[in-house]
Amino acid sequence: MTEAPRMPPTVQATWSTDGTLYRITCPHCYRVHVHGPQPGHKAAHCEPGTAGKVLGYFIEPPTETQISTTNTTSSLA
Ligand SMILES: [Zn+2]
Repeated sequence: MTEAPRMPPTVQATWSTDGTLYRITCPHCYRVHVHGPQPGHKAAHCEPGTAGKVLGYFIEPPTETQISTTNTTSSLA
C-alpha cells in the first residue's frame, strides 16, 4: 500500500448566532457552512463535484458552552 488514505480534515465549529447550529469555515472551499449541532463526520456543503464535497470533514464541537437557563422549576402548589 503506497497510497495514503485521504482522511477528511477536522474543523472546529462555532455556534451560530442563535446558538442552535454549528458554523464551520470549510477547509476545502473556505466558505462558511452551517450544520446541525452534532459533532463527527459530515458531508461537506461545498459545490457539487468538488473534492471537498466527496471527502467531507470531521466537526469538532464548539469549546465554549452555551448558557442554558432552563432552571425554571416553578412550584405552584
Ligand atoms: Zn466547502
